[in-house]
Amino acid sequence: MTTEISVETPAADSDQDFVQPFQLDRSRLRGRLVRIGPLLDTILNRHAYPEPVARLLGETIVLASILAAALKYEGIFTLQSKGDGPVSLTVADVSGSPASAGHVGRHVVRGYAGFDPDRLQAEGVDGQPARQLLGRGYLAFTVDQGQHTDRYQGIVELLGDGLDDCVRHYFHQSEQLATGLRVSVARDAAGQWRGAAIMLQALPEDDAGRHPDRKPSDLEDDWRRAMLLLSTCSEAELLDRSLPANALLYRLFHEEGPRVYARHCLEAGCRCSQQRVEQMLRGLPQAEVAEMTVDGQVVVSCEFCNSAYRFDPDQLAALYR
Ligand SMILES: [Zn+2]
Repeated sequence: MTTEISVETPAADSDQDFVQPFQLDRSRLRGRLVRIGPLLDTILNRHAYPEPVARLLGETIVLASILAAALKYEGIFTLQSKGDGPVSLTVADVSGSPASAGHVGRHVVRGYAGFDPDRLQAEGVDGQPARQLLGRGYLAFTVDQGQHTDRYQGIVELLGDGLDDCVRHYFHQSEQLATGLRVSVARDAAGQWRGAAIMLQALPEDDAGRHPDRKPSDLEDDWRRAMLLLSTCSEAELLDRSLPANALLYRLFHEEGPRVYARHCLEAGCRCSQQRVEQMLRGLPQAEVAEMTVDGQVVVSCEFCNSAYRFDPDQLAALYR
């Protein structure tokens, strides 16, 4: 079910931590808007990252959330940057169920970053574009839909100034799909993290590979017009909590016939568990696990959520029985 939006469309109860899919009828484009607040605070504050690292991981989380919302089946979507810069790794994964009749889609998000504090300090990266922090490397998109399905992985070189440039390039290269994308992550005056993004893509073509009733020049005009409108969206508007998401979409695209679909909720969470850690330890040679023992205990920490799983010698021995 879709809803046409207008100036009168009331604001949703909670205008943060969600993905809002929408469509522009006149320009035949589909889009998604994501706004993330408390979820970013939960993940980023848990690790006490330096500001530039937190912002970069925040962008990875915002982008993973907006990309995962396109999944039509249950599964795990992972977005991961790897490079030779001071921030060697950012990873965000999104798992959960898409919206179905009568049910709101619910996605659980987690993430972490790997970085070299000495290099961050030495290379004076404050205010530098994301690419300076990441260095040379790649951005990987992985879709894992469970045990009995193939894993899909797409990879694109790190290029441009930021991760959004890599995402645009990925869609252009892998799917010949032009993609409009604005993303912003910042702290507000109260020190709380805010992240948001808007993404636009063409609607799928018909079976014959054409858009019925549309000449190529129409499609180009539609695209150019929508990109122009998207470019008028400022970072402040994207992140402004007093401007509800639907009001922002209406402000930007009211001439294009915007319609919104059901939202996906986003929440911070983790998939680690005692059982998974035990399984992982069982998969390692016993001697190797014994070497991990410190003060009579083996401690396994989850890189995503910082949870620590402790095993004393008796518990370890029981694992191998
Ligand atoms: Zn965890």
